Amino acid sequence: MLIRGGRLVDVVGDRGGDLRVGRDGRIDRVAPGLDPLDREEVVDAGGCLVVPGGVDAHTHLHLPVGEVRVSDDFRTGTAAAAVGGTTTVIDYVTGPRGADPLEALATWQRWAEPASVDVGLHMTFTGAVDEGTVAACVERGVTSFKLYMAYPGTLQVDDGVILDVLRAAGRHGGLVTVHAENGSAIETLRRRALAEGRTGVFEHSRTRPALLEAEAVGRVGVLAELAGTPVYIVHVSSAPALAAVREARRRGVDMLAETCPQYLELGPELLERADGDNFVCTPPLRDPWHHEELWHGLSDGTVQTVATDHCPFTVADRRAGMRARPQGWADFTEIPGGMPGIETRMALVWEGAVAGRITVEDWVRLCAEAPARTFGLWPQKGSLLPGADADVVVWDPALRQGLDAGELHMRTDHSPYAGRAVSGWPRLVLSRGRVVARAGRYVGEPGWGRYVARSPRQGARG
Ligand code: MN
Repeated sequence: MLIRGGRLVDVVGDRGGDLRVGRDGRIDRVAPGLDPLDREEVVDAGGCLVVPGGVDAHTHLHLPVGEVRVSDDFRTGTAAAAVGGTTTVIDYVTGPRGADPLEALATWQRWAEPASVDVGLHMTFTGAVDEGTVAACVERGVTSFKLYMAYPGTLQVDDGVILDVLRAAGRHGGLVTVHAENGSAIETLRRRALAEGRTGVFEHSRTRPALLEAEAVGRVGVLAELAGTPVYIVHVSSAPALAAVREARRRGVDMLAETCPQYLELGPELLERADGDNFVCTPPLRDPWHHEELWHGLSDGTVQTVATDHCPFTVADRRAGMRARPQGWADFTEIPGGMPGIETRMALVWEGAVAGRITVEDWVRLCAEAPARTFGLWPQKGSLLPGADADVVVWDPALRQGLDAGELHMRTDHSPYAGRAVSGWPRLVLSRGRVVARAGRYVGEPGWGRYVARSPRQGARG
């Protein structure tokens, strides 16, 4: 296939040119003025951008949450990702506390078999772990780990475990990603709210203040400094947390940061609506001044990656709550948290480029290049370099797309962006050279996606 006459944007720059996809599913040539070969399919990309397929470094597919389960599995979630221009997802293996991590990994790999685009996996540790397990994960291409500083009793680990895992990961070329919120202090605020009869949805936001997010970012920055390792903060949601990232970096800590479209777009007033439980996510949505600060953080390089934390539920499951009560959740602590977003990420960040908050090159870097580099997929993913996988998106800035649930492909019946439309959507999406989406239609094949073993970080001291 020859993609002709587009505006190519990737690590090399922003320039006109043609791109040839080889028969092996890799990018063969990128140059101006390529002539079609015999019987080669030619795609006219005039007026469009040609960019590397998106890499979503933070998803939860198939995941059981209490008595319910996220509503997208790997088949439906990756099909939706493809339609929106994302051709690699990195999902979090999250077994129940006490489960063997390698058994959980095998389960996730089985769940991921019907994926339509390529899948990498991060490993979550919910307790102390021996170094051999860390090494075994890295050998299997799971080169990043997740630790929670929140959710005591289920996911949270203490500072000692964090320090041990940072050291072990550092020795084996792994990267530790952290959910940074002070879970113990939040637990106290939640208990107090319930004791005072404050049970409504908005209490979810009130009991998770930005200050406790910033505190955890600062604390894990100190632990990473002590361990002499990098650390990656998932879903930075607030200005104080962003300031804590800046402060850690100023001290020389190799701290990387991610945010998600919901923290750039949506405010906590949504939790006060009748359907406010659809907007429960953790960290909670913040007021608009935080959104502005985060856009600055994307533009100045403090935040390197935009992922989604895609974690959708049906309205019925949200109403029922994590205890699946027929009469509905009893208080805000029972609402399953998370939002759909795997399909809409590229378009929502693109809007920031159209508005001049970031550049078009920033858009590609934030959505594809940086997550590929950070998580050991570069340059196979996230680039248009010859030899890279032909995960390519022909992005049409003129294509309009509604964001109501019925106009999207994620398996859920509500949309955080309902009533809105975006200008800018993929005209064509390739996964290793195969067309998987065309102008808002999924044309891929379950099972086409492969598990991608990711590389350890360079310079590990193993
Ligand atoms: Mn998450």
